[in-house]
Amino acid sequence: MRHCTGEPSIGEIEFGVRGTMRQSTLKAPISFSGLGLHSGDECRIVVRPAEEYVGISFKCHKAGAVSVIAAAPENVGCAFHGTALVNSSGASVATVEHLMAALAICAIDNTVIDVFGPEIPILDGSSAPFVNEIKAVGIERQGAERHEIIIDQPVSIKDGDRSILIEPADGFRLDTTIDFEDCLIGRQSLSVALDNSAMLERMAKSRTFCRLYEVQGLRAMDLIRGGSLDNSIVVDGDKILNGDDLRDPYEFVLHKALDLVGDFYLLGAPIRGVITAFKPGHDLNTRAALAISELQRRQNQTPSRLAATA
Ligand SMILES: [Zn+2]
Repeated sequence: MRHCTGEPSIGEIEFGVRGTMRQSTLKAPISFSGLGLHSGDECRIVVRPAEEYVGISFKCHKAGAVSVIAAAPENVGCAFHGTALVNSSGASVATVEHLMAALAICAIDNTVIDVFGPEIPILDGSSAPFVNEIKAVGIERQGAERHEIIIDQPVSIKDGDRSILIEPADGFRLDTTIDFEDCLIGRQSLSVALDNSAMLERMAKSRTFCRLYEVQGLRAMDLIRGGSLDNSIVVDGDKILNGDDLRDPYEFVLHKALDLVGDFYLLGAPIRGVITAFKPGHDLNTRAALAISELQRRQNQTPSRLAATA
């Protein structure tokens, strides 16, 4: 088993979100340990290979008991500054989005993740440590055909001026716009081809960020107790407090795109279509994923993932 505590560098990504047309898993287990962003607790996970059609699920270990939560939009319990999954037994796992994005980027269809602690370790605030370790251990192609979610009618989710629109198209594109006019981040737009490995590499490396004035409020809500300049970009007005350069001139919008890719991978398969996101966030992302899941169910398509299991 390989073990990682956070390594920001990343090489070329072999598979895109579209990836292979065969299902895939990991060649061997890999583990990660580090602080949880919100709890501040030391957390450990083991990402294990799984058989065809198993999908992605989390085995939460707590006080000697084990409870399984399937990765599915129906199981989102909270999407406030991160995505947390819950099941009917009350088990939960928080901050799944960067690991889910790494699984999407590496086109991993089947894995069972043992979780020791309340959330997925934040590591360096990006998906790069997860992608690196998956690549290092290797990706096993399986025999079964890979499922794809084909969008055949527009799906739209809105909240005030924020929106996500998913439209039919023969491709895998995500157009993201963010607007933080009150500070250095400003307004950024970027189109990402989700089958372009160079773009996926840039996206995987992008780190989470927040504005300094938000920190106190989030701490008062018992959030980001594990947040630091080692795992988040902190912006104060026109300054970046981390004292180092951005990893990419578009790092902020790339990270919002990464979060969306992770949240949408709760559907368990890549989406064939064009996604247009304006000021997205986990709340909007997971509502849009749920709308696609419900549409699939209504259309009697093969559900990509089983809903809540205890
Ligand atoms: Zn994020």
